[in-house]
Amino acid sequence: MSKRRFALDHKAITLSVKVEMFVKTQVVIVGGGPSGLLLSQLLHMRGIDSVVLERRTKDYVLGRIRAGVLERGLTDLLREAGVADRMDREGFPHHGTLISYGDEMFRINFSEHTGHMVTVYGQTEVTRDLYEARERSCGALLFNVDHVVIQDADSDAPHVTYEIAGVSHRIDCDFIAGCDGFHGVSRATIPYRVRSEYEKVYPFGWLGVLSETPPVNDELIYATSPAGFALCSMRNSNLSRYYIQCSVDEDAANWSDDAFWAELKRRIPAAQADALVTGPSIEKSIAPLRSFVTEPMQWGRLFLCGDAAHIVPPTGAKGLNTAASDVHYLYHGLRQFYETGISDGIDAYSHKALARVWKAERFSWWFSSLLHRYPDQTAFDIKMQIAELEFLRSSPAAQKAMAENYVGLPY
Ligand SMILES: Cc1cc2nc3c(=O)[nH]c(=O)nc-3n(C[C@H](O)[C@H](O)[C@H](O)COP(=O)(O)OP(=O)(O)OC[C@H]3O[C@@H](n4cnc5c(N)ncnc54)[C@H](O)[C@@H]3O)c2cc1C
Repeated sequence: MSKRRFALDHKAITLSVKVEMFVKTQVVIVGGGPSGLLLSQLLHMRGIDSVVLERRTKDYVLGRIRAGVLERGLTDLLREAGVADRMDREGFPHHGTLISYGDEMFRINFSEHTGHMVTVYGQTEVTRDLYEARERSCGALLFNVDHVVIQDADSDAPHVTYEIAGVSHRIDCDFIAGCDGFHGVSRATIPYRVRSEYEKVYPFGWLGVLSETPPVNDELIYATSPAGFALCSMRNSNLSRYYIQCSVDEDAANWSDDAFWAELKRRIPAAQADALVTGPSIEKSIAPLRSFVTEPMQWGRLFLCGDAAHIVPPTGAKGLNTAASDVHYLYHGLRQFYETGISDGIDAYSHKALARVWKAERFSWWFSSLLHRYPDQTAFDIKMQIAELEFLRSSPAAQKAMAENYVGLPY
């Protein structure tokens, strides 16, 4: 594939080194979050060029506190991308999880039911490792990119235009990967007549707190109670991430740390509440909960990956992991195309990715429905939740199904 480049000093870009502006590449990747970076790194390992266009600065992207539970499929992909050393050293293998309702608590043993585990390692760290790898190989990452427009994606000659510091640029390419999250431009590039959207907005959000305190438990605790849902999670042995279900229209600034800790303690079993070490929050934010899927995930030479195509409520820890499975399918399709000229993989991308996406959507919806209190819930509905929790507690078959979904369905 021919490739023309010219170099210039571009002061608006956050890197202080000389930055190349690209006029042609093989794959333009819109969005420098985990999906875009992972795809770019995997393609690089196979000699396929890409340019990543990121609207924000690197520090901004790294400042976002999000996912923390990695499925085996994602950890394998990170190893294939050559960015897993720190994760393998510092990540925590989790062989199970706890589920509580009131003072009742039981454990789902992932290893026993599936032979697999998950790894607790923050999205921020995954993203940092990917940035470092891309920078080490002088990968093309452009920050502070505005007004990205994807052009002629349904033709054989797509291109992308964008601005940096008010100066317009254009890159010609073979393919475009839309990895620009839920609010990006890629999904909207696919015409309405081609696209169908499926959405469920939940009538609550999650108030999350990050604190430099030891986690209350070695494994995650998913808790439900008459006061609502709570999650006790962690990033490392002195960094805890806790969430409580809250109303969607609340403002995190109105929650003092004391109020947060008191509410969390009401929602977890008494023994865990007594053992909870509290401290000042270092981050506090509210996330709305939504299930969303757009179909198809490709249009001509444009492919949507990750949050650009689908969103899940975070209850089953599937957001980042489903983004990774999209990257897997797209990477293999592009690799097949560049190595053999065969387009079967990229032609089937949307079909393959969506088949797995919908299963992750189902699991996230089911787990969310089981554990949250809904404003319009009747006494009967609550009895159904308790009955299902007791079934899950007592049935090895139900536990196996839960564990199979939680550790991640095969690609
Ligand atoms: C508050 C919150 C908490 C979450 N918690 C969890 C969790 O506990 N577990 C879990 O599995 N998942 C969680 N998720 C979901 C998970 O973080 C996402 O699924 C994951 O970030 C998806 O990665 P992505 O690269 O597809 O999208 P993103 O991470 O959204 O990255 C997209 C990137 O594209 C950039 N961009 C956007 N528009 C443009 C544009 N026009 N031009 C150029 N660049 C653009 C953005 O700046 C961003 O850097 C959470 C999400 C949120 C919002």
